[in-house]
Parts: sequence; C-alpha cells; structure tokens
Amino acid sequence: MTEQPFVIVGAGLAGAKGAEALRDQGYTGPLVLIGDEPDRPYERPPLSKDYLLGKAERDAAFVHDEGWYAEHDVDLRLGTRVIEIDPRTHTVVQDDGGTVRYGKLLLATGSSPRRLTLPGADADGVHYLRKLPDSDAIKATLASIQRLLVVGGGWIGLEITAAAREAGVEVTVVESQELPLIGPLGPELATVFATLHTEHGVRMRMRSGVERFTVGADGVSGAVLADGTRLEADAVVVGIGAAPNLQLAAGAGLRVRSGVVTDARLQSSDPDIVVAGDIAEADHPLLGPGIRVEHWANALNQPAVAASTMLGGDAVYDELPYFFTDQYDLGMEFHGLVRQDDYDDVVYRGDVEAREFVSFWLRDGRVVAGMNVNVWDVGEPIKALIRSGEPVDVARLTDTGVPLEDVLGS
Ligand SMILES: Cc1cc2nc3c(=O)[nH]c(=O)nc-3n(C[C@H](O)[C@H](O)[C@H](O)COP(=O)(O)OP(=O)(O)OC[C@H]3O[C@@H](n4cnc5c(N)ncnc54)[C@H](O)[C@@H]3O)c2cc1C
Repeated sequence: MTEQPFVIVGAGLAGAKGAEALRDQGYTGPLVLIGDEPDRPYERPPLSKDYLLGKAERDAAFVHDEGWYAEHDVDLRLGTRVIEIDPRTHTVVQDDGGTVRYGKLLLATGSSPRRLTLPGADADGVHYLRKLPDSDAIKATLASIQRLLVVGGGWIGLEITAAAREAGVEVTVVESQELPLIGPLGPELATVFATLHTEHGVRMRMRSGVERFTVGADGVSGAVLADGTRLEADAVVVGIGAAPNLQLAAGAGLRVRSGVVTDARLQSSDPDIVVAGDIAEADHPLLGPGIRVEHWANALNQPAVAASTMLGGDAVYDELPYFFTDQYDLGMEFHGLVRQDDYDDVVYRGDVEAREFVSFWLRDGRVVAGMNVNVWDVGEPIKALIRSGEPVDVARLTDTGVPLEDVLGS
C-alpha cells in the first residue's frame, strides 16, 4: 500500500515551519503544503514595518528560499484553496476539484482582517492589511496622498500610522476605546503609545466611531463620525483586528471555540489533525487551558510541537506568548499574557519619559508579563520571572542597579 502523505493546509508561517519541522524531525514520507495565496510562504510583520517603509526587500519576508520546497521534497501547491476536509475518509478537497488523501494533517489557516460593512466601506482607497499585495497597495498610496484616516488604534493601525508619518502624510486615528491598545496593554502602557503618536503629530480621536465613509469621484474622500464630525481623507486603512479562519475546522467537525481547541501537544479533537498558529486554542502547561494568541512567535514555534505530535512524539507547547512592535524610534518586546482588568499593578524599571524602560504587570505580587521598550537582551530574565510564579520584591524589580537575573535572588 502506498503511504498517505502528511498534508499541511495553510501556507503561511506556521504551515512553512510545519513542513520544515517534519523534515528536521526525520519524516521522509510524502508531504503536501497547500495555500491559497500566489506567493510562497512569507512572514507578515514586515508588511506593516520595514517593507512598508521601503527599508526591506520583498525577498526578506519569505520564510524559505524559492528552491527550498523542491530541495526538501515538499509538494507546494500555491493559489489553491482547500474547501473541505473529510476526517472520516481522510480527504482534503481543493477548489480546483483535486483531492488528497492524508495520513496526518496540520491545519494552519491563520486569520483574516475583520471588515467594516458601513456605507462607503467598499469604496476605492479603503485598505486592509494582511497580505503582501495589501502592503504594496498601501505603500503606493502613502507615496501619493496627504491625509490618511486610520480606523482602529491596534498594533497594525498604529504601525501603519507611524509609517505614514515617516512618509510625511497627515494621519488621524479613530478608535472606539479611550486609548489605543488598551485591550492588550491596559491604560498605563496604552498611554505611552498614545503620547508617542501625538508627539509625532498624529490626531488621535478616541471614543469615536465611523458612521459612514464619504465617497467622491476618485474613491473614498473621508468619513462621518458617530458624533457628526466630518473628516477629510485621501485614503483609509481599517485595522480593527483579525478573525481566525475556522470554517474548514468547523466543517470538519473539529471542536471549535475562539479557535480550534487542542491539547498541549496541539492535537485537535481528531487524533489525525493537529493545529498551529493563529487558529490554535491550546492548553498551556503554565497559563492554563484555551490560550490563543495571534503572534508571529507562536506561528514560528508551535509547528515543531505539531510535527512531533504528527510523528507520535509527546512534546508540548509551553513557550510564553511573545510579541514585538516598531513604531518611529520605539522598539519593544512583550513577554507573557495580560488582559485589561486582569492585573493589580504595573511597575517600571528605567526611564518611562525617555521611553527606555521595562514595565512589569503584577498579579498577587507576581510578574505575569513584561515589556522592554528600547532596552534589549532582557527577554530571558523577564521570562524567568514570569515562569517562576514567585512573589517579587518590587523595590528590587524596579531598581536598575539590581540585575534582572538577581531580582529573585534574596
Ligand atoms: C501586517 C501584519 C503585521 C504583523 N506584525 C506582527 C508583529 O509585529 N509581531 C507579532 O507577533 N505578530 C505580528 N503579526 C501577526 C502574525 O503575522 C501572525 O500571528 C502570523 O502570521 C500567523 O501565522 P499563521 O501561519 O498562523 O497564519 P497566516 O499568516 O494567516 O497564514 C495562513 C495562510 O493560510 C491560508 N489559508 C487560509 N485558509 C485557507 C484554505 N482554506 N486553503 C488554503 N489556504 C488557506 C491564508 O491565505 C494564509 O496564507 C502581524 C500580522 C500582520 C497581518
């Protein structure tokens, strides 16, 4: 009997890393990687940062060299959408009518931007950012306009805002909450980002919502806010978050909540289907059940565990969530997991005014998350503090004279 291939659905970062991990871990059987985009797998963070700013080449975004897939005997099927997975017959159905039988399947379908359905939202000049061509279109737009309206003060909206300001474009950000990023960071650090952008001349309209877009002969011309304010703009970028692509998983009868539910080995409710990246809602040995994050590092690191599970191994995914951003001259890294209203205090080490500091979120006197802003090479001690689960002496934690590695020392 011929061996059924291992199939990976979704050729983003998690899919590409899944193929790499399977080969690295010794899988020599047939391997199919199916993705609906025309480009081979690439990383998305540059699309709102260096690539958008024209500081990085397109090639730098790709996960592997063009020849890597053939060299590793990976049957890469681009521009091909999977429309159905039948776990009973172990069959994947493609939109071109082709079918593939699988032995094991890795599902890594990622996310899609949430869309606005307001009047005018379909007009020319209203952009979303998820894919390479989106970034190309926004880059070309920034080179030719004077006024940009950004809807949504999340990570992507603010990174595009920074890129637009660097291109000399006037920017207004409209955000429904009282501060940008208040959801992922809480009000203390959200204020740091709000100040950063106002200092760079961005008009921040908080607690505001777009009611409709105005449209002229050349496309979108502005927006009317819920309070009646009219804003003029030559283009709009909508960054109101992303939703995981769960249709295939749900159609296959897998257990789905905010993502595809998995155990710590990233195995779904079907023993032959594993999950990685944005869509995985996984049990985490340290953080508890049902952890789903839309982070680059997750898509980078989870596939090695998913591959191990496909090969019968018992590795578990226990990395702490990690996120980074670059805006103007602010670079930051974030370790851990914090939700608004789910911590007691934020304390600082370093100079917040100068935007050179580490902030720590505390719950019950323990560090649950840490963010280093323009301070580097502190990821390991921050992670160690979170992992220890021990109460910290705040005076030592915030004293730059005490090495972070020694904070728990005495
Ligand atoms: C502009 C931008 C900037 C970002 N910046 C950061 C950052 O600074 N730091 C950070 O931590 N994270 C960042 N992220 C998030 C990070 O990129 C994602 O978490 C990561 O891409 C998730 O990888 P993934 O492989 O799970 O999903 P994706 O990258 O979404 O890849 C999934 C792939 O599967 C394809 N697919 C979906 N359904 C099907 C189907 N039925 N058939 C075939 N193919 C299918 C999709 O088209 C896509 O190509 C950013 C995201 C964006 C969009």
